[in-house]
Amino acid sequence: MVVAHPDDDAYGVAAVVALHLADPEFRFFLVHATDGEGGAIAEGSGATRETLGAVRRVEDANAWRVVGRSPYRHEWFGYPDGGVPDVPFDELVDRVATVLGEERPDVVATFGPDGITGHPDHIRIGEAATAAFLRFAGDGGPGFRRLVYGVIRQSVIDRWNQRRVKAGLTAWDPDTVYHLRGVPDERIDIDIDTTGVALLVRRAMQEHRTQWNDMNNPEATEEQRVKSVSRETQVIAWPPVRPSRVLTDVFEDL
Ligand SMILES: [Zn+2]
Repeated sequence: MVVAHPDDDAYGVAAVVALHLADPEFRFFLVHATDGEGGAIAEGSGATRETLGAVRRVEDANAWRVVGRSPYRHEWFGYPDGGVPDVPFDELVDRVATVLGEERPDVVATFGPDGITGHPDHIRIGEAATAAFLRFAGDGGPGFRRLVYGVIRQSVIDRWNQRRVKAGLTAWDPDTVYHLRGVPDERIDIDIDTTGVALLVRRAMQEHRTQWNDMNNPEATEEQRVKSVSRETQVIAWPPVRPSRVLTDVFEDL
């Protein structure tokens, strides 16, 4: 998986890993473009602005320990948090491509053009991961069989927005940076039922202590938070031909 910040991997992909814990052939590696040192610092987390990046690396490792499987390779590029779009694009693609070329994974997961929240770091690392993937896809070698983008289905965003408005909050606006945005339900190619591992995912999310407020949406009950990680949805960016039905696992039909 190729993402921007420690905790981007806490959603969704943690559930996919948890679902494959018993699979001896399953392995995963992670690329983080930044240490997330510009992020929030929750009260009581013990981090300071100076230590946040280092603390978040440890939190990320702790979260994977809770899931029960750690990445066999974890690359931290160490670019400035919020500064990924300022990295020369070719350099970013080259660095991702170096890792991908060494590992030749079957499936690569990253952000799509919506960045889920419109965060410029998410969008740019997704673009770089896509460009790097396309250097290898279809080259006749092993791996590179599917590129997926993590997304939220629009009907879920609509439901959350109803709840937000009821609570007196503004609805998520897809044109505002850092607001959640969805993709049309009919665009979903992979719809994974992660109910069986949702509690485990929630426990792993708690390890991102500096990000407490993001991980524990105060408007939601714990039951609703568990429900929010009980389903993982993705669109398939490559190969270009969409499957004839909605798949239920990232590896299905490979
Ligand atoms: Zn992020």
